Amino acid sequence: MRGLVVLAALLAAAFGTEVFVGHQVLRISMANEAQVEKMRELETMDHLQLDFWASPSHPERPVDVRVPFTSLQAVKVFLEQNNIQYFILIKDLQRLVDDEKAQMVRQRSRALSVETFNYATYHTLNEIYDFMDLLVAERPNLVSKIEIGYSTEGLPLNVLKFSTGGPNRPAIWIDTGIHSREWVTQATGVWFAKKIISDYGKDESLTAILDKMDIFLEIITNPDGFVFTHTQNRMWRKTRSINAGSSCRGVDPNRNWDAGFGGLGSSRNPCSETYHGPHANSEPEVKAIVDFVKQHGNIKAFISIHSYSQLLLYPYGYTKTPVPDQKELDSIATAAVTALSSLYGTSYRYGSIITTIYQASGGTIDWTYNQGIKYSFTFELRDAGRYGFMLPANQIIPTAQETWKALMVIMEHARDHPY
Ligand SMILES: [Zn+2]
Repeated sequence: MRGLVVLAALLAAAFGTEVFVGHQVLRISMANEAQVEKMRELETMDHLQLDFWASPSHPERPVDVRVPFTSLQAVKVFLEQNNIQYFILIKDLQRLVDDEKAQMVRQRSRALSVETFNYATYHTLNEIYDFMDLLVAERPNLVSKIEIGYSTEGLPLNVLKFSTGGPNRPAIWIDTGIHSREWVTQATGVWFAKKIISDYGKDESLTAILDKMDIFLEIITNPDGFVFTHTQNRMWRKTRSINAGSSCRGVDPNRNWDAGFGGLGSSRNPCSETYHGPHANSEPEVKAIVDFVKQHGNIKAFISIHSYSQLLLYPYGYTKTPVPDQKELDSIATAAVTALSSLYGTSYRYGSIITTIYQASGGTIDWTYNQGIKYSFTFELRDAGRYGFMLPANQIIPTAQETWKALMVIMEHARDHPY
């Protein structure tokens, strides 16, 4: 094994890519607060280079962590010494990365139409940007592409606008992929775009939504990070901005919003996966949406899509104070997860961010809610932790289909409850 790891490291150095040979993902279950505390201790041990897919919060919520081969021994000893239960969720992460890549290569073909585009595989940034152009070319009266800004590395921030006319109609915003490694989300966004153009004029409810409201869809919300997950490091989550005084790159774009910015549940350490950045809106990918939302002024629902964990969440994440609309949001969430599970039986939990997962400051939907966008929600899509970010491509379409059911519940509610 060690020989293999050394070889992999050499190859990685030669090609400049991060490899995960021998990396394991452990699922750790804590029995009590004291063990949660121990896990928090482990989280601060930078030299182990652990990647927490979910951070320790409370005993009921297990923690998934990617452990590099060279740290496995130390981590397992630490857990055993503290009597903390764990099992191996993913035995060799590189195998999943290789399988995924092979699947992409096998399925690759240049789509000539929205109809023939392959929705059951993962795609690169260029393939998705080409798809957007195909969509606009095929249905120019229904969909257009707007550029709301540029990423740190100069990539366009493209948003699809689905509209049947009228100036500044009330609108619904959907974004996917703000965390770049959550690949099922961008793939789901692509499927949504196709679904909207196919259902308009056929599905009564969606038609009624689009006859009254516009839908904005940003599929690749963190393009620099997304490209990086394809070319260098499949596990990259943050943006790719340069941090002054640090060799670590990137800011967590879901901790960079001006809502409880810099508070608990975000990190001041540029090397952390939850680094909040030097100031709110420091990331152009975040600032572009902030400017867009303010300028538009008539957005009624804002849905930001992540993976994984199977959760539907509403504000707040930065404070325990319930939002004034808690009751209404909770009943929408109940209906949405019921609709979602009706298709394949996928079970979701729901509630406010802080009560359902953990305190998180500077998050997207806390800011949008505080801007007066009442119907602000975040999804954490499939799965519950079998594959995590490495969700097999054959689950893309079922994930998108079931999520759409929940989205329709939220969008219908926004349509029927103008405020
Ligand atoms: Zn995320």
